[in-house]
Amino acid sequence: MRRVSIFGATGSIGQNTIDLIARDPEAYRVVALSGGKNVAQLAEDARKLRAEIAVTADAALLPELRARLTGSGVEAAAGADALIEAARRPADWVMSAIVGAAGLPPGLAALEQGATLALANKESMVCAGPLVMQTARAHGGAVLPVDSEHSAVFQALIGEDLGAVERVIITASGGAFRDWPLEKLAEATPEQAAQHPNWDMGQRITIDSASMFNKALEVIETKEFFDIDPALIEVLVHPESMIHALVGFRDGALMAHVGPPDMRHAIGFALHYPERKTLPVARLDLAKLGQFTFRAACETRWPALRLAREVMQTGGLAGAVFNAAKERALDAFIDRRIGFQRMAEVVEETLNRVSAQSGLIAAGITLDNVHNVDHLARVTADDIMKK
Ligand code: NDP
Ligand code: MG
Repeated sequence: MRRVSIFGATGSIGQNTIDLIARDPEAYRVVALSGGKNVAQLAEDARKLRAEIAVTADAALLPELRARLTGSGVEAAAGADALIEAARRPADWVMSAIVGAAGLPPGLAALEQGATLALANKESMVCAGPLVMQTARAHGGAVLPVDSEHSAVFQALIGEDLGAVERVIITASGGAFRDWPLEKLAEATPEQAAQHPNWDMGQRITIDSASMFNKALEVIETKEFFDIDPALIEVLVHPESMIHALVGFRDGALMAHVGPPDMRHAIGFALHYPERKTLPVARLDLAKLGQFTFRAACETRWPALRLAREVMQTGGLAGAVFNAAKERALDAFIDRRIGFQRMAEVVEETLNRVSAQSGLIAAGITLDNVHNVDHLARVTADDIMKK
């Protein structure tokens, strides 16, 4: 039996992971499940999967979680330290699907105990890619991508020589506003931004798809995951979301990964790797689909893409600043304190201000340093938004 833990179990990726695991209960022993506010879902799944421990990130919800788990034999715990403790419990495979930089510490703790980390939490790679990869190497663990584009690139690279790669193209649906006239973007509301044309995902990543901050994070994630020269990474708008990524080789061949927009493919691939097992995803009828279309990704419409290139050029802790500023700007947009286009301005100004403080960005990528610049970037972004 494989021992598995799922961090962010109550979210969109977490629920899709549970869907796959629950189809084959004999194959898995569930160690830890974590959630945030949704303790009802967390307790229900922990009972159903007979987890050893259920952890809510919110300490105030511990009494409710305990009450919901009474008589189940499942332990209950709460808070950020409890998440790390749970990630330290031996498990063979750990899903990292918390949203935001909060996913980094439990992911690192899971790698430290030698687990294979299935990484949906792209923020870990953006904030601390070298630390994540080095922790995996040091403890004999592995990191497998769950983000659909990165799973696609990973699959296209199986058996290939990285030196023969000429370009890596990750696709983007373009999100909710891809066809809106630019002038209208100023009026965009959080509700409108949270309507994804193809994927059913959490609210935050869906809004990040409309602003392309999601794609910006993914460009950085691509660089960190595959150690690829940023100059070789391209973004292509593909409204149908059927091709997830393409890898171009020096002989001119392009290997595309094609599949329906269903995260259970990438999750299932990471769950069964290196085997391929049958997965409950739709099979495409290409004749019925008829055509795939593509457009260039416009940096005037989506300035986040330009910022991602600047972040990769700066290197060091710039990714952690970028992500933290983006998280605060996104909070403010969701709360209607700033407009849709203001998010990129706030992130850019935060990057400029924090970068101007000498030595900060160039400090080593340790968990403490990431934590410190993350905090500074949040305070700076909040200060910028006060004006
Ligand atoms: P959701 O918002 O649906 O779920 C997020 C999960 O994290 C929930 O379990 C939530 O708990 C928990 N959570 C929220 N805040 C905290 C916190 N501060 N500390 C600990 N736990 C917390 O997100 P998604 O599932 O959409 O995304 C999860 C990750 O996967 C993100 O990094 C995202 O970018 C990435 N990803 C998602 C894809 C998708 O299809 N959804 C595709 C590719 C990548 P609760 O809900 O109980 O409050
Ligand atoms: Mg993705």
